[in-house]
Amino acid sequence: MSTRKVGGEARACVGRAGAALALTLAVGGCGSGGPTPPDPVVGRWPIMGTFLEVRVWHADETRARTALDAAHGEVLRVDSLMSTYRPASELSRANRAAGTGRSTPLSPATAEVLAAALGYARLSDGALDVTVGPLVDVWGFYGEEGRLPPRPVLDSARALTGWRRLALSDSGDSVRLPRAGMRLDFGAIAKGYAVDRAVAALRVAGAERAMVDLGGNVGVLGAAPAGGAWRVGLRDPRNPSEALAVVAMEDGAVATSGDYERFFVADGVRYAHIVDPRTGVPVRGTASVSVLAASALASDALSTALYVLGPAEGACLAAAQGVEALWIRDPGPARRGGPPAIEPRHLVVTPGLEERLELRIGRSGGTPEVARCRRP
Ligand code: AMP
Ligand code: MG
Repeated sequence: MSTRKVGGEARACVGRAGAALALTLAVGGCGSGGPTPPDPVVGRWPIMGTFLEVRVWHADETRARTALDAAHGEVLRVDSLMSTYRPASELSRANRAAGTGRSTPLSPATAEVLAAALGYARLSDGALDVTVGPLVDVWGFYGEEGRLPPRPVLDSARALTGWRRLALSDSGDSVRLPRAGMRLDFGAIAKGYAVDRAVAALRVAGAERAMVDLGGNVGVLGAAPAGGAWRVGLRDPRNPSEALAVVAMEDGAVATSGDYERFFVADGVRYAHIVDPRTGVPVRGTASVSVLAASALASDALSTALYVLGPAEGACLAAAQGVEALWIRDPGPARRGGPPAIEPRHLVVTPGLEERLELRIGRSGGTPEVARCRRP
């Protein structure tokens, strides 16, 4: 079995209809023409297993730098509370107490994210489940090598998952994990929350126009530097250094969940790091999902949930939550070498996104499908 780990991020590129901004970002092709806006002050830090990039456009550079530091500080704070890699984090403490009968007190921030996660778990019928960690582990996504777990191993892991098993205090400020081996993992939601906190910190620090990108979770503040809408490039899941499409957004956030971030290939089948908690098996058939929402937390949580649900089921959740989504179907294995090309026919978009999406792939190869909620 061949195994491959990819640490890439679903990073987006941001600009307006002016090439200068697009070129400051790793992904090219976010627009052309128009006046050249002023250069932003940029900060880039490794954190949460990815990179935090903050850009602030401000005439006063000192103020811009103060705002950058405030944004970085907020992401550090979220990481210190919610990382499962830091033994002193609240999540690590709660996880160590699993099966002991003890509850772990939670700060307001961690309690807020847990409450939001459980809300999305309910709304998505368990597609987003922050207790899914033991299942992610048995497939080896965070270990040295991916593997297909034998049935009994999968069944044991499933017995240690399930958001309904969590015991929260009435006020939600403490949590108990009833079984030893259960664990909380905010990998699908904490980055979005951190982006919201960073954007709020930028605003408080006096920034008026800024962009935060934390591993593909993008939040914007104010109007784009030269006015008008921000133009955000969405990665091509089979050619992740390129933008496959550009979306225009006035405010809010966009996040992408993709099968190219962590995956392995076994017997020609690609297994990626998002697991359907209802079956215990990595989701197949989808290469990536991008979600535009009012908050980064919502876009992060829902991009993972809609990845699990797929467009047929997910269209109703997207409509109910008032978000726009783009699913990109897995184009299958490469033919004649090279990566398989994503064509328009592989795209499924919610009705409101259709006219806001500017494709950067050839127009041949069918047309995008529109995902409509068909539930009566
Ligand atoms: P994201 O990139 O936001 O979609 O988050 C993916 C990460 O969340 C994975 O690397 C896992 O750690 C975790 N995860 C995988 N499947 C799920 C799921 N169904 N619900 C919640 N978290 C998940
Ligand atoms: Mg997510």
